[in-house]
Amino acid sequence: MNIDSFNFSGKKALVRVDFNVPLNADFVITDDTRIRAALPTINKILSDGGSAILMSHFGRPKTGPEDKYSLRHLVTHLSQLLGKNVQFANDCIGDEAKAKAAALKPGEVLMLENTRFYKEEEKGDREFAGKLASLGNVYVNDAFGTAHRAHASTTIVADFFDADHKLFGYLMDAEVANAEKVLHNAEHPFTAILGGAKVSDKILIIENLLPKVNNLIIGGGMAYTFIKAAGGQIGNSLVEEDKLELAKELVEKCKKYGVKLYLPIDSVSADKFDANANTKVLNSDSIEAGWMGLDIGPKAIADYKAVILASKTILWNGPMGVFEMEKFQEGTKSIALTVAEATANGAFSLVGGGDSVAAINKFGLDEQVSFVSTGGGAMLEYFEGKELPGIKAIRVN
Ligand code: AMP
Repeated sequence: MNIDSFNFSGKKALVRVDFNVPLNADFVITDDTRIRAALPTINKILSDGGSAILMSHFGRPKTGPEDKYSLRHLVTHLSQLLGKNVQFANDCIGDEAKAKAAALKPGEVLMLENTRFYKEEEKGDREFAGKLASLGNVYVNDAFGTAHRAHASTTIVADFFDADHKLFGYLMDAEVANAEKVLHNAEHPFTAILGGAKVSDKILIIENLLPKVNNLIIGGGMAYTFIKAAGGQIGNSLVEEDKLELAKELVEKCKKYGVKLYLPIDSVSADKFDANANTKVLNSDSIEAGWMGLDIGPKAIADYKAVILASKTILWNGPMGVFEMEKFQEGTKSIALTVAEATANGAFSLVGGGDSVAAINKFGLDEQVSFVSTGGGAMLEYFEGKELPGIKAIRVN
């Protein structure tokens, strides 16, 4: 069932959103991106003549309700964004939620209290999910960021709706369609750019991508484990000693699949991990003792640029260096600009994972790539080839 072809008229839609937004000490929202991202789905429901019952997790409450994790703090802002008064239930199940949901009229919105105030949420408890389900007569999942969790409100709740009454919201739909396009329908050459701190976080994604990609570009701290494994001198650069053998195996697998592997020829190296460190460019396999590679160097940038510009599909996850510090941001910035340029030339580019999204936003290029995925963990697990429970729950009857 597709959201565009579903008519919500007269329906009470139970919508799983991801309103896990940052708040400051005065409970003011410091970044409302996630709330704004859910507006198209909510507005579609309301303009069809339906009502929306919103549920979300918020923070990580430990044992039951805690004021700092109350979704009540978001209601005024959401009301402003929607241009209408949003009602609030002080519990996500129970008599008050039931009564308010039952009294909801077409065009009205009810926000339920944090689902994680119940330990049953993360346990994926059926009885709890059934109580949530009873509040609405159609279930809409628009929370891609939690699609990799088999929680009550993201997955189990869907079992209580038949195939014609459970669907993805617009945000989730776009995430799934774009991820599927890259993983199953990529135009070639297909280049994956992987960066970030550790190889260990990216092993599964590399293995799953090898049969699909033509080029694998590696940058960031994880590159040095590969360089050391090949016999290079990496000084004090980040390394995972227990992953050296694995790095060698991955290099062999690249050969087996005919994937061209790109490691940084040179590195902007520093004498300490510090924004004001002394720096010099060194070949990545000849980093002197006492120095560490904190960004890819100019030769690596030129090398990577040529590959990216010749690609038709680009998947990017993870920064090329310590981009949070100005002296080590050039690699990540150049790659971001190049991905944008390739996109302008007709390539399809998907950027995802917390830090690469932060990077693309930092350089103001988020509008110049084809798609920026909002789901860090969910996006990684999707590209690792795992079936996400939140997606499966909507698709399987
Ligand atoms: P991840 O969470 O694995 O995507 O890693 C992102 C983090 O890796 C960022 O905070 C970067 O600063 C850090 N990082 C990237 N390159 C390096 C490097 N060469 N050495 C140390 N840390 C790095």
